[in-house]
Amino acid sequence: MEKILNYIDGTYAKPQSNKWLDNYNPSNGEVYSQIASSDADDVAKAYQAAEKAFPTWSNTTIDERSRILLKIADLIEENLVKLAEAEAKDNGKPLSLALAIDIPRASANFRFFANAITQFASEAHESVGMDSMNFTLRQPLGVVGCISPWNLPLYLFTWKIAPAIAAGNTVVAKPSEVTPMTAYLLGEILTEAGLPKGILNIVHGTGPSAGQAIVEHPNIKAISFTGGTKTGEHIARTAAPMFKKLSLELGGKNPNLIFADCDYENMLETTVKSSFANQGQICLCGSRIFVEESIYEKFKKDFIEKVSQLRVGDPFDAKTNMGALVSKPHLEKVQSYIKIAEEEGGKILFGGKTVTVENLENGYYLQPTIIEVFDDQCRVNQEEIFGPVVTLMPFKTEAEALKMANGVKYGLSATLWTNNLDRTMRLSKQLQSGIVWVNTWLNRDLRTPFGGMKNSGVGREGGFEALRFFTEPKNVCIKYNRG
Ligand code: NAD
Repeated sequence: MEKILNYIDGTYAKPQSNKWLDNYNPSNGEVYSQIASSDADDVAKAYQAAEKAFPTWSNTTIDERSRILLKIADLIEENLVKLAEAEAKDNGKPLSLALAIDIPRASANFRFFANAITQFASEAHESVGMDSMNFTLRQPLGVVGCISPWNLPLYLFTWKIAPAIAAGNTVVAKPSEVTPMTAYLLGEILTEAGLPKGILNIVHGTGPSAGQAIVEHPNIKAISFTGGTKTGEHIARTAAPMFKKLSLELGGKNPNLIFADCDYENMLETTVKSSFANQGQICLCGSRIFVEESIYEKFKKDFIEKVSQLRVGDPFDAKTNMGALVSKPHLEKVQSYIKIAEEEGGKILFGGKTVTVENLENGYYLQPTIIEVFDDQCRVNQEEIFGPVVTLMPFKTEAEALKMANGVKYGLSATLWTNNLDRTMRLSKQLQSGIVWVNTWLNRDLRTPFGGMKNSGVGREGGFEALRFFTEPKNVCIKYNRG
């Protein structure tokens, strides 16, 4: 059985304990590889390699760093099919999605930061009332830690490591133990691209073991983390006494506000995607749909009809719209929320049942599920389910819609469907979320700040925000004689 090894100091390596975890293919429920179950000893080894590489890498010219990142981007593109197939098998997502979105975006992350670092300039100014000149040095932090989740495996892994190394840091990174395959394959690409050894070290294993060891390592200067809110809170507590710099991209329960004056067809088509793309396992999915009362019944009927046409099936079948959920425990968690919805008095308008796919009977398939709820404070409307489950509720007024949209502990993204410019401006300002999409969804320009408010996180990624996170600003003040 294939072994998923760590990539430390430019070389694939077994975990020092020689302990392994099973890696499941969610489309058929079978174990198909074994993952290195790393611990603090492996993290220490990865740290040593990163520490050794730091002085040279941080002193490497920006052009040279940029050139290597571009080469990595090219090689990801060249390996598109191989990586997309690995991602679909590991995660259960439709291959078409991995080919169109996940892997191209991983390449785009390296390409974007290869260019962004060449444009990342700092400020200079004369002191007020004194003959001295100030400028700001933006220096890499040292060895940094990057920890990513399973829903968009290579996409989110590279979204962190690309800016980290572009800015001159060296990295100890851990992908999710649920979907380690593409991060593992990235090792070959890094070597082929000529990334000097020790700059990017990839350690596989569970959160409590390998992840915790990265956060606890006293000399790892910063942690860029994407994952669940509870894990983020735990990481923040662990890191606080060491004063580590933290970027936390956490959970969401995003509202999708639909007003009667919107472009209806565009809204309907996009709402199907924002509800169920990647089996609803995107932190940005619009899992709470609020619809203006006058079009509520029509929307309900049309939405159910469209959703009923989605094909749940083999991720490798080109006709599949929704593949498998990522794991058995995750499927069970999502199912438990469907049960909670029924207990709370919610009405299952569509779905709610598992799907048996021919020849893949043990896969983790679930119907897209629409739940009509009557109280926005109910649990299914308040807690992140992170699966193919959306709630539906009508609203009467803009004020009521806003109150319900903001009435959760999360604040990652919001989508607004309206053609009223004044309303767009009002709500864009008042919605408590890091991103507001108006008449669109998942429209991402990599220069824009990305991240959440409230329990959805701390800090921003994307564009120069990421380069700011991965650098220490230092004021240099030079006294001179005006003459
Ligand atoms: P998770 O928090 O369980 O795991 C995320 C990563 O953290 C994994 O690599 C895991 O091994 C690691 N980890 C777990 N415990 C740890 C610990 N004690 N110390 C260090 N690392 C630890 O999340 P998940 O189930 O993999 O991902 C789903 C969650 O991620 C959802 O809540 C989703 O909303 C969120 N998410 C957020 C964004 C965003 O940008 N805000 C993007 C994608 C996913």
